Amino acid sequence: MYTNDFEYYCAESTDEAIELLTNHDGAELIAGSHGLLPRMRTGEEEPPVLVDINALDELSLIERADGELSIGALATHAEISASEMIREDAPALSDAASEVGDVQVRNGGTIGGNLAHGDARTDHPAAVLALGGSLSVHGPDGERLINADDLFEGHFETAISDHEIVTELRIPIDENTTSTYLKRRNPVSGYPQ
Ligand SMILES: Cc1cc2nc3c(=O)[nH]c(=O)nc-3n(C[C@H](O)[C@H](O)[C@H](O)COP(=O)(O)OP(=O)(O)OC[C@H]3O[C@@H](n4cnc5c(N)ncnc54)[C@H](O)[C@@H]3O)c2cc1C
Repeated sequence: MYTNDFEYYCAESTDEAIELLTNHDGAELIAGSHGLLPRMRTGEEEPPVLVDINALDELSLIERADGELSIGALATHAEISASEMIREDAPALSDAASEVGDVQVRNGGTIGGNLAHGDARTDHPAAVLALGGSLSVHGPDGERLINADDLFEGHFETAISDHEIVTELRIPIDENTTSTYLKRRNPVSGYPQ
């Protein structure tokens, strides 16, 4: 049950997703749905339009390019946790992903959704900040990079604008440095405390 009615669109390209966001006031992207839907059930968020981006396969790629690790926004916590490349180049992110919630949340929740949601209680922000990550975002004016240092502006508030879509997380590869993420788990919620 949701507290409001909403329209649902399934975007077939990043450009179409941006167009749908631009043409519908208050529209929200939907990726893994584990951040937004719980808040729609309680009425904390009531978007009139949902734009599903799960058909954008190009946003699931995990690869190395130009001295950076590139992780598509739709990569799930489970895929990040299972990736040998991420384990090697950004172990703190791998650790954080393997600690998220339960199997269902790890199989559905995405890195892009986690960071874009700006929920200050979650695991990935600390790891991404420590690793010096940045987000590639696309909007009506093209692409821009947001450093993790500039991303988080408050609880559920980020530097990503209403009409922008996160396409990838970039982590610089530093062969001389390693990292880890240790979680103190809230025994009730399972979130970090
Ligand atoms: C029971 C439960 C337990 C959890 N436990 C933990 C935990 O222990 N640790 C933890 O870190 N997290 C936890 N989470 C949160 C989980 O990690 C979510 O998956 C994550 O916060 C949101 O990612 P999503 O893909 O589900 O995003 P969605 O719910 O689909 O979207 C969340 C928000 O981000 C926006 N968004 C999504 N994708 C993009 C994109 N590509 N570009 C721009 N905006 C985008 C949406 O519009 C929406 O506003 C838990 C969630 C649940 C339900």
